[in-house]
Amino acid sequence: MLHSRPDENEVEQDCYHSSVFSEEILNFPKYHLNEESVDPELAYRIIKNDLMDEGNARQNLATFCQTDMEPAAVRLMAETLEKNAIDKSEYPQTADLEKRCVNILADLWNAPKDKAFIGTSTVGSSEACMLGGLAMKFRWRKAAESNGLDIYRKKLNLVISSGFQVCWEKFCVYWDIELRTVPVDENHLAINLDRVMDYVDEHTIGIVAIMGITYTGKYDDVKGLNDLVEIYNQKADYKIPIHVDGASGAMFAPFASPDLEWDFRLSNVMSINTSGHKYGLVYPGIGWIVWKDQEYVPQELIFDVSYLGGSIPTMAINFSRSASQIIGQYFNFLSLGFSGYQRIQLRTRRVAMFMASEIEKTGLFELINDGDNIPIVCWKMKTDKKWNLYDLADRLRMSGWQVPAYPLPENLQKTVIQRVVVRQDLNRQMATLFIEDLKRAITDLDQARILFSSSEDEIKVHGFTH
Ligand SMILES: *Cc1c(COP(=O)(O)O)cnc(C)c1O
Repeated sequence: MLHSRPDENEVEQDCYHSSVFSEEILNFPKYHLNEESVDPELAYRIIKNDLMDEGNARQNLATFCQTDMEPAAVRLMAETLEKNAIDKSEYPQTADLEKRCVNILADLWNAPKDKAFIGTSTVGSSEACMLGGLAMKFRWRKAAESNGLDIYRKKLNLVISSGFQVCWEKFCVYWDIELRTVPVDENHLAINLDRVMDYVDEHTIGIVAIMGITYTGKYDDVKGLNDLVEIYNQKADYKIPIHVDGASGAMFAPFASPDLEWDFRLSNVMSINTSGHKYGLVYPGIGWIVWKDQEYVPQELIFDVSYLGGSIPTMAINFSRSASQIIGQYFNFLSLGFSGYQRIQLRTRRVAMFMASEIEKTGLFELINDGDNIPIVCWKMKTDKKWNLYDLADRLRMSGWQVPAYPLPENLQKTVIQRVVVRQDLNRQMATLFIEDLKRAITDLDQARILFSSSEDEIKVHGFTH
């Protein structure tokens, strides 16, 4: 968020009053630095109090981000906060843990043995997508130069379904690329394979497939896309790569659907990113990107940092950050192993499918996703009611649940849906409570005399949609 000077109204309140048990009421300026120091324990309690009225993270069914970790992981992460991930020379063991994580992911994503994969940790998928996009841009440029194409004649473009996450729009704005979106429609809530190749031309740097569309939880058909790209590439000068944005799915599918082919098994999948803090089960922020082979990462994007008297290559947009999230990721890999991850992901999916079937049984909603891919359940209204999904979201908030309602992307904006993201800390018992609260909310809305929304088809974004 960007912040600026407080407005007049806020300046009047530039003081907050806090008290902690027997302490006198304490007054602090809010928007400038207090003159005197505050005892650390007291400062802790004051700030803790300040944060009291935020939502309960585990009832936030809007976010994909982890809201619960093992106490041993939290201890380990708290004890390693001071380690700087970029300082490979001072923290060679930490660098080694990162290397192990990249290797584990390359293996989970079936990196071919005869190629030299390369990858790195990032702050999240957004940074990873920037790196993936940049690698495609630089690679295109190099190939275009040797193919004798005028690289400045036309703006370059990137092809993706209109269900993209905002990081791709950012990538395109920041690095001056045209974002070409293949619209979703009623029959294609993921990338439309009948139309996608119409968007490709010789200035296309790559196609992004999404494993886990943020809006609906659907998987793009990456295998089908790969077949189309294969045919195109046989005749094209520039062989179009596929980047898989697996922010949520790349840590879910390997465990829950190991036979689904979406990863480096496919000939044109060049790079894959994921968010360690989504189904990698780590607190934010940690992300990863792996390229199938070093040849996909142009040399000019790689910088050397010193490491044990020598140097090692790095590729990142950020420089200094704590290594504790990397260590948390390795903790999960080590402590859960393949079977632990699989147990959690399958259980999470069962909870999602249970919620989906209960939601469907109310008879009021049509399911758009039943949690069968990533464990996301979403639905729209089927019957005519005086209330809409925004009202239902407001009502659920009264029992602490955050369940956003929002319009579908470009072309389907008239359809408003509601979405639940099931994470490992939403167990069957909590899901049952949620369903009870949902039914109560429906009864209340049916009987309510005051309705807050103005019109049925009013479009507004409500809550978090990430
Ligand atoms: C969440 C998400 C992102 C952004 O990930 P962060 O780790 O939050 O930066 C990108 N793409 C998709 C498909 C996502 O779901």
